[in-house]
Amino acid sequence: MSLVKPVQIAPRSVAPLEHVIGEERRDQLVQAADQFRTALAGRTVWNVSSTAVGGGVAEMLHALLGYVEDLGITSRWMVITGDAEFFVITKRLHNQVHGDASGGVLTAADAGRYARMLAANAVELLDYIRPGDLVLLHDPQTAGLTEYLTHAGALVAWRSHIGVDWHNEVTDAAWSFLLPNLVAARGFVFSRREYVPRQIPADKVAIIPPSIDPFSPKNQRLDADTVRATLSTIGVLDGAAPGERAAFTRRDGTTGYVGRKAEITGDSRPQPDDPLVLQVSRWDLLKDMPGVMRGFAEYVAPASDAYLVLAGPAFAGVADDPEGAAVFAECLLQWRELPTRARNRILLVTLPLDDADENAAMVNALQRHAAVIVQKSLAEGFGLTVAEGMWKGRPVVGSAVGGIIDQIAAGTGILLPDPHDLAAFGSDVRRLLDNPDEADHMGRAAQAHITRNYVGDQHLLRYAKLFTGIMQHAAAV
Ligand code: UDP
Repeated sequence: MSLVKPVQIAPRSVAPLEHVIGEERRDQLVQAADQFRTALAGRTVWNVSSTAVGGGVAEMLHALLGYVEDLGITSRWMVITGDAEFFVITKRLHNQVHGDASGGVLTAADAGRYARMLAANAVELLDYIRPGDLVLLHDPQTAGLTEYLTHAGALVAWRSHIGVDWHNEVTDAAWSFLLPNLVAARGFVFSRREYVPRQIPADKVAIIPPSIDPFSPKNQRLDADTVRATLSTIGVLDGAAPGERAAFTRRDGTTGYVGRKAEITGDSRPQPDDPLVLQVSRWDLLKDMPGVMRGFAEYVAPASDAYLVLAGPAFAGVADDPEGAAVFAECLLQWRELPTRARNRILLVTLPLDDADENAAMVNALQRHAAVIVQKSLAEGFGLTVAEGMWKGRPVVGSAVGGIIDQIAAGTGILLPDPHDLAAFGSDVRRLLDNPDEADHMGRAAQAHITRNYVGDQHLLRYAKLFTGIMQHAAAV
């Protein structure tokens, strides 16, 4: 059985993008694609990652590469394979890049195992990749391919989708492990400048933030009846679903229907007109769901009729996701101890993951229905939920941490300087609940801001610039 597998990419027409980004930007994209195709002169652009499903990276690649295909640029996506030991090592590495060493230190033996697994993958990749081809490697799982592919004549860039804007001995150890693998890389991509380790030369770095796809099940337009039908079907809103079915368009273009129910902990359900405050995130300590609950219970519930929905993915069970289960359990304990009046207006919601498109449609409906979206993270790589909420024209209160700082520009949402300050959090949320005009205005500015900066065409133009530079540099030496 082979280790590397090609991922099928469904072409996505860029034409509908014009409705979102306008004619001028669409023309600019098509023109840039034409120039890039000429510069490529028959080379292929390869993306290599460790998974084709689940997670933001896979979702983004499916969308972007679909457009790239439609733009007539030859690109391929390959997924590598590792054994269990390899993924234990790369998970540790991932955590250490975030400053968490609880999984244990990485040893020289680990470095050897990591290198051997990637050497085996590289041998197979080189059946496909030709000298001169461009390769974009994603995340720590693939860093060790750089040397092999470069040696065979490919032009390799590496993208880190993760990072923190500080460093300590744990993050330094992670980079000491990774950087020797990346010596031959011709370019580096980070989501924020603050995430670039100081050892990487600035002239090789491109800052390319993530983007959202306006037509994915997560972000596509849903009318008010569909939103209501979806939320009634999953059980978040009171009352039977209206006649309308909870329809959405799947990533493959077919029509899907939300049919599964969410698991909900809550004494009562909001009526369709009750304002909803929403945080969607994994059940992760750094997302601080318990803090959102405390802040809402103490500072919002007593002064408004709003409900709070804390929504996250269903976790398979303690063995599969011990941290998710533990964080959810903490929320549950805290919820049970709340005074009745506050508890009555707080729902813990876990969304089934059996069907990724259906799960995305549920998140979409929740975000569209919310009066206020919050993301009170204690740390955040980028925080796609913020872009998703803003894209839907919702006012967002987000902690001033990591990528949230970049996304919420003045007037497009509210940045919470100290995520531990629950009184300030509560007062920001109340301000938006109490001033619907201001909230509306902010939501409109938010949508325009995301459209301008975080839609896929901007992402693709930034990649084209990076790769053009790499090709020019390679030709010059
Ligand atoms: N998400 C989802 N279903 C859920 C919970 C979260 O699809 O039940 C999505 C959410 O909409 C977002 C992503 O997971 O697209 C989380 O990305 P983010 O950058 O906010 O945080 P991360 O989980 O990567 O730390």
